[in-house]
Amino acid sequence: MGILESSSRMLEQYPLCDHCLGRQFALLGHGIENDERGKAIKLALTLAAHQLALSRSKEGMNVLRILATNGFFETAEKILQKMGKRVPRKNFAETCFLCKNRFETVNYLAEEALKKSENYEFNSFLVGIELPTTVEECEDEFKANFDVSYGENMRNEFGRIIGKKIAESNGKTVDYQKPEIVVLANPFSGEVSLQINPLYISGYYKKLVRGIPQSKWFCSDCRGRGCEKCNWTGKMYPESVEELIAKPLLDSTSAAKASFHASGREDIDARMLGKGRPFVIEATKPQKRFLDLKKLENSINEYAEGKIEVSSLQFADKSIVRKLKNSESARKEYHVFIEFENKLSVRDLGTLEEKLTNVLVRQKTPIRVLHRRADLTREKYIYKVKVKKLSPRKAEMKILCQGGLYVKELVTGDEGRTVPNVSEILKNKAKPIKLDVLNIIMQD
Ligand SMILES: [Zn+2]
Ligand SMILES: [Zn+2]
Repeated sequence: MGILESSSRMLEQYPLCDHCLGRQFALLGHGIENDERGKAIKLALTLAAHQLALSRSKEGMNVLRILATNGFFETAEKILQKMGKRVPRKNFAETCFLCKNRFETVNYLAEEALKKSENYEFNSFLVGIELPTTVEECEDEFKANFDVSYGENMRNEFGRIIGKKIAESNGKTVDYQKPEIVVLANPFSGEVSLQINPLYISGYYKKLVRGIPQSKWFCSDCRGRGCEKCNWTGKMYPESVEELIAKPLLDSTSAAKASFHASGREDIDARMLGKGRPFVIEATKPQKRFLDLKKLENSINEYAEGKIEVSSLQFADKSIVRKLKNSESARKEYHVFIEFENKLSVRDLGTLEEKLTNVLVRQKTPIRVLHRRADLTREKYIYKVKVKKLSPRKAEMKILCQGGLYVKELVTGDEGRTVPNVSEILKNKAKPIKLDVLNIIMQD
C-alpha cells in the first residue's frame, strides 16, 4: 500500500498530529523531521483530494472532511468552505491519538533541562525519555494495525528532538555511548530530571610512610559512629590513602562523594614505592569536571604532606574499575627486611634464593586475616628471590611474585600454614621487620 493510501486510512480512523503521522514513515527520506514529513503527507493528500473533489468525486470530499476533522490541517477546511460544502465539526479531533499533543511540550522540556543543567560542567549529554506504558502499548498496537514498517518509535523522536533543542541552545554534544549527563524527561508528566554521571580519574599512588591504611577504616567498636576508643572520630586511623586523595578531589569537583578503587592493597605498615600502585577515584555527581589534572595532582600532594604522592593522573571511564579489580594478581615486587633468631651463614643466602625461586607457594589464609577472610588455600608463584645479608641476624629479601602472595607469612611460615617458607627452609625462626611494595607490573 502506498504512503498516501495508508496515511489516509490512518487519518480516517484516528486524529494524528504531524509528528505522529510523519513518524510512521520516518525511514523514508533523509534529513527531514517527522513533523515536516507528516505535514507534507497531509498536504499531498489535500491536493489529491481537492482534485478528486473538483471532479465531483465523493471520495475526494470524504478525504477532505477527514483532513479537516483532524483539526491539524486548515487547508482542507478552507477548500471545503470555498466549495460551499459542509465543514464537519471538530469534536474528538483536537487531540492526537498517539501523543495526546505532547509534542507541543518539547520546548518546555528542553528549557527545563537547560535550567537544571546550568550548574554542572559537561560537554556531552543524552536525553532519555520515559513514557507511560499505555502510550507505548497504544503505539505498538497502532503500528501492528496499519502494518507500519518504515516507522520509528515515539521515545526516539522525543529524545532526538529535545536533544537537538538542548544542543542548539548550549552548544553541547549528544553522546549515545558515554554521556556525562543524562536528561530524563517524561513528556506526559512534564517531569525533567538529571542523572549526573560520575567522573573517573586514574593514576598511581606511592605511600611513603608506614602506618596509613589504604582505605578509610571504621572503628571496630562503634563502626563509625564515634566512641571513646576511636577518640570520637569513628575511625581506627586518622587518615588513609583514600581520604588523602579524596579530599582535594571533592574540593575541586564539588562532588557528592568519592569512591576509591585500587589494584590490590599493601598492609598498613608497608610502604608503596617504585612507580606506585594504580588506582582510580570516582567522583559522584560532580558539578565541575573540567579539571586541570596537573593542578589536582599538586593539590593532592600538598595536602598529603609527603605521606603519599600521586602521579600520572588521567581522565578514565568506568571500565578501568573492572580492569583494576582483575589486575590484583598482576606481578608484584616486594622488599622485606627480616630478622632471624639465630645467626645467618653465607650458605643460607644461597639456599634461600635457590629454594624460593621459580616455586609455587601454598598458603592457607593467614591467621591475622582469618577473622575477615574465608579459610582457603591459595597458590601463588614466586618468580625470583634475591637475598642480601645486612648484619649477623638481619637480611633483606627482594621478591618478584604473583600478586596476592602474603609476604609476611612467606617469612614466618604462619605456623605451617604457608609452605615453603623462610623459617622452615633455614630452620631458623624469621620475622619480617619492614615491608615495602617496590613495583606493580600491570599487563595490558
Ligand atoms: Zn501526535
Ligand atoms: Zn569508635
